[in-house]
Amino acid sequence: MIGDGSLERFRREGRIVVVGASLAGLRAAETLRDKGFAGSLTMIGDEPHEPYDRPPLSKQVLLGKAAAERTALPRLRSVDATWRLGVPAAGLDMAARRVRLADGDEVPYDRLLIATGVRAHPWPREAEAQLDGVFVLRTRDDSAALARRLEAGPKRVLVIGAGFTGSEIASACRERGLAVTVAERGAAPLVGALGGVVGAVAAEMQREHGVDLRCGVMVTALEGDASGRVRAAQLSDGSTVETDVVIVSLGATRNTEWLAGSGLGAGPRGIACDAGCRAFDIRGIVTDDIYAAGDVARCPHPLFGYQFLSLEHWGNAVSQARIAAHNMISESTDRIPHMEVPAFWSSQFGVNIKSVGVPSLGTEILISQGSLKDHRFLGVYGYQGRVIGAVAFDHARWLPFYQELIETTAPFPPSFPTVDRRSDGQRPIDADFPDPSVPTHGPTVTLGGYSPADRRMTFTPAH
Ligand SMILES: Cc1cc2nc3c(=O)[nH]c(=O)nc-3n(C[C@H](O)[C@H](O)[C@H](O)COP(=O)(O)OP(=O)(O)OC[C@H]3O[C@@H](n4cnc5c(N)ncnc54)[C@H](O)[C@@H]3O)c2cc1C
Repeated sequence: MIGDGSLERFRREGRIVVVGASLAGLRAAETLRDKGFAGSLTMIGDEPHEPYDRPPLSKQVLLGKAAAERTALPRLRSVDATWRLGVPAAGLDMAARRVRLADGDEVPYDRLLIATGVRAHPWPREAEAQLDGVFVLRTRDDSAALARRLEAGPKRVLVIGAGFTGSEIASACRERGLAVTVAERGAAPLVGALGGVVGAVAAEMQREHGVDLRCGVMVTALEGDASGRVRAAQLSDGSTVETDVVIVSLGATRNTEWLAGSGLGAGPRGIACDAGCRAFDIRGIVTDDIYAAGDVARCPHPLFGYQFLSLEHWGNAVSQARIAAHNMISESTDRIPHMEVPAFWSSQFGVNIKSVGVPSLGTEILISQGSLKDHRFLGVYGYQGRVIGAVAFDHARWLPFYQELIETTAPFPPSFPTVDRRSDGQRPIDADFPDPSVPTHGPTVTLGGYSPADRRMTFTPAH
């Protein structure tokens, strides 16, 4: 499309297919129409439901304050699309520009957006995962089933993995008055995403709210009774937890298997794309007709040393989808990069947690406002002398200021005086992130690629 009118023709009568009918897919479709795309739009989604919102699934729905069926995403405009719901895409023919569906149909496209997101890691032992009472939480149906089981008043809930989702589930269960044990392989909850200093606060919050928190242990086996209901879990420290509901919260797997053999640069870490959301093929050559957005995408971020970032953040899915949609129907000179500073929120144990930037890239932390002891503070993360991220526990008012520091690569530690800097904020300390080679529940931000200034990966052959 080089100014010969073909872009105009494509915008008038071209075919765009979106695979993944959720947050990123819907917001991209709306943007395409907003920006004047008048051709055909097909939305392919493996779930039977229209796009819905996931954050309430581990919060309001588990508390019984909202029904899982009432989480549909607000429609910002009509998208005039053909919806193919309840059928997964099963293959991609890049040369013929066709998406193959599991029911055998083929859908041709001129441009394709892939927004297939992630799915919850299942419990690794299949027979144990099948026990009645063992859950994961990713979808509306997962959440509805779990909420029903919590409503029935189980004797004890065991949450395996204390990342954001696991911690939110534990919080909701305690708010419902249920007995909860949390088992976490790392040294503290949230340690992969926020480091050990902040993780220690998260651990205190859990214990103060009555969670039986066990860190540094793994669940080694789940046991069922004669009727196939889960009844206990064995832990690596030799202890047993009697439980009738187990929620496996071990992080996520990217939905890219359907692209195997297609020639697209897609794998377990997501779909590699450029800053304009165009996907790479397996040779590392950027395609011009295939784009990726949301949790499934990984793309280089100029603010973070051009490292490839994979984010599992609601706000990222929205902004990346909008940029992908814009670029899909623009001349190359009008395309825009996806440069938004990552941002994330969570609410648990009565505290609002918000972060900006990439805390998990930080090596040091300075508590610039408030205090860890009060569970109300603002922590700034530093990496190689610059501000790289910030997290607020009930202190979000100031986050935009820190976001600006990240955007302007301001020096770390920040030099400004603050009115309320307490004793734990006098100097930066080690942020205490776990060794990246040791698996935890999985941070919600993963870094990949190569940056000359960054930690290097060591390749150790198996033999
Ligand atoms: C319980 C929970 C709580 C969360 N809370 C927060 C929060 O507090 N703050 C925050 O910032 N973020 C939160 N998130 C993350 C946020 O919801 C995600 O970042 C967001 O949903 C990503 O949108 P997406 O469209 O990229 O992917 P998804 O929402 O995962 O959607 C991808 C869709 O594609 C479908 N799909 C997969 N494979 C195929 C295929 N082959 N063919 C067709 N369709 C396919 C999937 O089934 C799914 O419907 C939460 C997520 C969960 C699960």
